[in-house]
Amino acid sequence: MNSDIYRFNLGVFECIAVSDGRLTYAPPRFPPPATRLFANAPTELLEQVLREHNLQLERWAEWVSPYICLVIRTGDHLVLVDTGANGLGPDTGRLLQNLRAEAIEPEGIDTVILTHGHPDHIGGNTDSEGKLTFGNAQYAMWKREWDFWTSEEAEQQLEEHVREVLLEYARKNLPPIQGQVRLVEQETEILPGIRAIATPGHTPGHMALAVSSEGEELLCVSDAVLHPVHLERPGWHAAVDFDPGQAEATRRRVLTKAATDKALVLAFHFPFPGLGYVVPEGEAWRWRPIEAAS
Ligand SMILES: [Zn+2]
Repeated sequence: MNSDIYRFNLGVFECIAVSDGRLTYAPPRFPPPATRLFANAPTELLEQVLREHNLQLERWAEWVSPYICLVIRTGDHLVLVDTGANGLGPDTGRLLQNLRAEAIEPEGIDTVILTHGHPDHIGGNTDSEGKLTFGNAQYAMWKREWDFWTSEEAEQQLEEHVREVLLEYARKNLPPIQGQVRLVEQETEILPGIRAIATPGHTPGHMALAVSSEGEELLCVSDAVLHPVHLERPGWHAAVDFDPGQAEATRRRVLTKAATDKALVLAFHFPFPGLGYVVPEGEAWRWRPIEAAS
């Protein structure tokens, strides 16, 4: 089994969860994982919750996060959701080689949907020389998100310790798609069966996708939740959430929808392949990963 590729069907859509690799979040480059992921969690409760996940706060020195892109063959379209983080770390930027292992050439992708403008989601738009990787594709992104990253706003509002790398990736990877990006302003179908869902908070115009075929539904939540613990503690926000209050409201709305619809969920940073179900538990939820054997 190739641990970077996971194929599954959704109605008549053929889908593939494709890893772009992984990044190790650890000091000194990043804050300790618990601080980064659960910035406002009370220590005692955090210790207890992490223990239930076989993690020990004191010893949890690094968070190795997968970056999971999604390919959807609808029959009429070959769609890629997010482009990974080319160049961000030693184990990122594997998207293209993994696509090629599935006989998918970048020229064959006709639609690229970008859930938001962070480096790990747009970083594969261009190669090391700045040339468009998916040159034949029509792109889609939420308009508010595009406006944020392509204006002065990002520079003025981003926290200092992340500003440089975020701006560097946005400036390299967004302007080249300007002539071929469709900016989405309302919850509408980007393509038949692929619907944009407004999920602001993690970033100003973060977008989730509701994908449906033949009555089956996949909710691609991207970074509306970053770690399975966020299902149990939706009020714990990550240091990288742009607007923590809005991020929490969004998280609750998305998790409610996922649980109510009993939708298959794809979460970009969860253990590969990032697929599972959201199960109500008490006043919150818990993550039930799919059995990943294939
Ligand atoms: Zn991300």
